[in-house]
Amino acid sequence: MSESFSPQRWANTLTTVLNAALAGSADRFPVPVPDLARDYSRQRFPDDPISLVQGDALPGFDGALYKAPPGKKGWGIIYNSAITSPGRINFTLAHEFGHYLLHRLRFPDGLECGQQDVMRWDSEHRQIESQANEFAAALLMPLDDFRRQIDARAKPTLDEIGACAERYGVSLLAATLRWLEYTDRRAVLVVSREDFILWSRSSDRARRTGALFRTANRPPIEIPATSLAARPGLLEKSRGQVEHGRGVWFDEPCEELVLTSDQYDFTISLIHLEMLAPMRVFREEAEADAFDLMARNAGRSGPRR
Ligand SMILES: [Zn+2]
Repeated sequence: MSESFSPQRWANTLTTVLNAALAGSADRFPVPVPDLARDYSRQRFPDDPISLVQGDALPGFDGALYKAPPGKKGWGIIYNSAITSPGRINFTLAHEFGHYLLHRLRFPDGLECGQQDVMRWDSEHRQIESQANEFAAALLMPLDDFRRQIDARAKPTLDEIGACAERYGVSLLAATLRWLEYTDRRAVLVVSREDFILWSRSSDRARRTGALFRTANRPPIEIPATSLAARPGLLEKSRGQVEHGRGVWFDEPCEELVLTSDQYDFTISLIHLEMLAPMRVFREEAEADAFDLMARNAGRSGPRR
């Protein structure tokens, strides 16, 4: 029964529990995942609870959900004790808690999750992993609270997103991905290593106006030679910010905020674009809309299936 809950529904259920106990309190964030996972699972699934949450050697994995050994009941959530960033650990724990709630009946022996599983939220990656991430993001960073920290129309700096990462006990990358989910602005996150795009994510408005990089099942895309990400010598304390004219990242001016991360061994570029796309893009969009409309109308006059 409960396993048919969606990731969002599970997160909402737990958010309601946490708000009832802690709304407005300084203790509301970050969400105490280990205690929450143990206490809630013991209450709701007393015969099959999470009985252990701890760090351990997990070579090759960031986190895992393991069935208790024979003779013992319940589950263990393990994070890789080689990870030193509290934000990464917290998100990984919430991700594994998501697997417990959503997937434990389908995977009775448990699951092991690599860095990509926990870091990439797109559904082009494995679906169960993106579901666990959707749950973790919604549980740790409720949008109503996030919107109060950074308005949907605001153009945040990395420091401002970093303050939210601190508030929610997650990495800057996770907080940036969450902000991209609700911002009204046009913005693109590019994660690169050694001058190639590993993966990228655009805000809804950026995507709809053509500002996006498709990386799945394609040859790797090189980052622009004049981008800040390609010139780490310009960074100060692993950070930097620069305004570009058109033709660097896109065929329009943009602002690029960069952070290199020792934690992950990659570079994050947050690219802010103007609220309005250049006219050329709007024309293309309008043409696409007109085409969609024609296709829909054509479908409507055809036989119903
Ligand atoms: Zn996973």
